[in-house]
Amino acid sequence: MTSTNIQLNSNSRTRNYTYLDTLAQPDTNFKNKGRGKDETLLKRSTRKQFTQRITAELLQLDSKLHKQYQRAYYCCNGLQQEGKTIKTTNDYCNSRVCLVCNSIRTAKLINGYGKQLESEKQYFCCLTIVSVKQSELRKTIEEMTKHFGLILKLIRQKKGLKPDGIRRLEITYNKTEDTYHPHFHFLVNCKESAMLIKLQWMKRYPSVIWDAQDIQEATEGTLTEIFKYSTKFAIKSIRDKKEHYEIHIPSLDIIFSAMDGKRTVQPFGKYVKQKISEDITKEDIQEKEYNVEPRAYAKFEWNGHDWFEIFSNEALSGAEPLKAEFHFFKKKTPEQMVLII
Ligand SMILES: [Zn+2]
Repeated sequence: MTSTNIQLNSNSRTRNYTYLDTLAQPDTNFKNKGRGKDETLLKRSTRKQFTQRITAELLQLDSKLHKQYQRAYYCCNGLQQEGKTIKTTNDYCNSRVCLVCNSIRTAKLINGYGKQLESEKQYFCCLTIVSVKQSELRKTIEEMTKHFGLILKLIRQKKGLKPDGIRRLEITYNKTEDTYHPHFHFLVNCKESAMLIKLQWMKRYPSVIWDAQDIQEATEGTLTEIFKYSTKFAIKSIRDKKEHYEIHIPSLDIIFSAMDGKRTVQPFGKYVKQKISEDITKEDIQEKEYNVEPRAYAKFEWNGHDWFEIFSNEALSGAEPLKAEFHFFKKKTPEQMVLII
């Protein structure tokens, strides 16, 4: 078990939230298992291998995000060890395509907002629109963001409510229609506000079907769900006891490009004061000790599936190359893709 639990008190209840461990949260539950592998480093290796497989394909496109994909490809390539402490020798790429950075981001947001969100009842709701073509995607996201802000303003000024919460943007891609479906998930601390936000959204987007069931009291998994960054760039299936991933590269690039420079997680009300950025800064990466053999000083370079010591070629994590099969679609798309960024 490599996840980290945070226990948050809510009235008399105690809830456990489980989220992805990160560089900033090395696994404290780890017990040496034979070869003394560090679970955090193993997970980082898996994330890095996935990121490299995907960005290698994205780099073949003529994309405006070419440099960003390059940074993600090389993210955490070099590591250095002193004692049992390991740190990167280059900066984190901060890209949404990087699964290493996304896991740090998720933990950061949960740590930053978790206690406050848990201290009062929250309602969870989804705001959708009719799917759009690629050419309208960026403009549509901007409009949705504007409308959400205006709705909050209206509720505060005209209804006298003070909604506090967080909203998150997700985008899915539909292969059959070749359309994109941006939508918001939000958490808010008052049911009346949730209803009003939804009603006002329906007024602005009348083609959307009203679903009253959509407003639910947030549960244990909601917080993780709302902050969880995209690990779902692909359709996963198991065939012949093997994991298969189907990835449509052009739609992935279109979504990342539409989102470039925009926030996907936006707090409102009292949560704005927290000022937690989606960007990963040096403060977010605390140097911690890992479950590795201590060394006075050593430098490691990434090569395919692990980091190797530059002189002895000794592997750092003991990770294996991914056994999964990747199917990259350049023109033809797989059956159905869900991309969450
Ligand atoms: Zn990165």
